[in-house]
Amino acid sequence: MAKQNSVIAFYDERMLAHEPNIDVPFLPGRMDKRVRSLLSGLGVPWKYPEHPARLSAIRHLLELEPVPGVTFEAGMPATREQLGRVHTSSYLDSIYHLRGKSAWLDVDTTAVSPGSVEAAEVAAGTAVAAVEAVVAGRAESSFALVRPPGHHAEPVRARGFCLFNNVAVAAAHARAALGCQRVMIIDWDAHHGNGTQDIFWADPDVLFFDIHRASPFYPGTGSLEEVGVGLGDGTNVNVPLPADAGDIAYLKAFREILVPAAEWFRPDLILVSTGFDPHSHDLALNVSYDGFSAMTGILQSLARRQCGGRLVFVLEGGYNLISLSRGVRSVLQVLAGDEPHEPGLRGLAEVEAAAAFHRSAFVAEPDASDTQSDAGSDEPSGAT
Ligand SMILES: [Zn+2]
Repeated sequence: MAKQNSVIAFYDERMLAHEPNIDVPFLPGRMDKRVRSLLSGLGVPWKYPEHPARLSAIRHLLELEPVPGVTFEAGMPATREQLGRVHTSSYLDSIYHLRGKSAWLDVDTTAVSPGSVEAAEVAAGTAVAAVEAVVAGRAESSFALVRPPGHHAEPVRARGFCLFNNVAVAAAHARAALGCQRVMIIDWDAHHGNGTQDIFWADPDVLFFDIHRASPFYPGTGSLEEVGVGLGDGTNVNVPLPADAGDIAYLKAFREILVPAAEWFRPDLILVSTGFDPHSHDLALNVSYDGFSAMTGILQSLARRQCGGRLVFVLEGGYNLISLSRGVRSVLQVLAGDEPHEPGLRGLAEVEAAAAFHRSAFVAEPDASDTQSDAGSDEPSGAT
């Protein structure tokens, strides 16, 4: 029986009310016209991939197959003060103005529906709640199951399905209100977290580590040379990967880059922008459930060595509902005390047992005549 650690998963149904539907009329404007012309240029029907079923699929799987040691709590909306630590006040005004409306914000497919502004406030506030639970010691680790996602949202701009940068709001809250000094953010989503990088670009107290599929894959940023600036020079670490890179590359980067960076930085809180789109089902990279499990294991032992185990996961992307929900579950299992799985080993013990079982079947047993002919051979003894 695995040892159980206390884990709180945060989930809030208000985030299901963000349901952009490209068939409904949007606020008339240049952006609407521009997006409509882009969509018609695609020549194929396009649906909004960041939809409410992403969260309900996760919740449904965790009801069908609960993870012992994981409890659920509701989230809360972020306040303007919390959001204002990472977004400009004119940006917040323009988003608040869209409450109750349908509109396009950005050609990078970020749209809002009447419930979206509150959903986005709850997503950011739920990331804050997940950090508060861990810093207060109510749980060793937590997982904010949120949408809309956040890591593409910049201080002044919504991008890539993201309105507010949830993980950045949570990190800023930990520093401004919870007494944390140094926060490390790890982003393992398939896409580069351009917004998080931008927000903490010159900040020496937030170390941002991002492993992702390299440009020209969306959003096109995240090169090795982007290392931060000014006081934050060196606290931005990108690991761009080619298409279809998988478990071995991710784990090598974790062990050889992320862990030494964290040991140098000495964070007192670790946040993870957790996307499940590196899974092979999403067709960009080739990480497996065992890969997510092993990455979680590395982060859990790192957090225990560095910061009393304080580890908070915040959901980002992942669009195949099966790999999204199964990926979340594989992370929660490790957080709750299961041994992490090392990828590439599944079935090896069974193959070894089968090899032992079959071994004698295919080895020619020397029969009497062979023995005799061997004995009578002219082979000189000691021949090489
Ligand atoms: Zn992504």
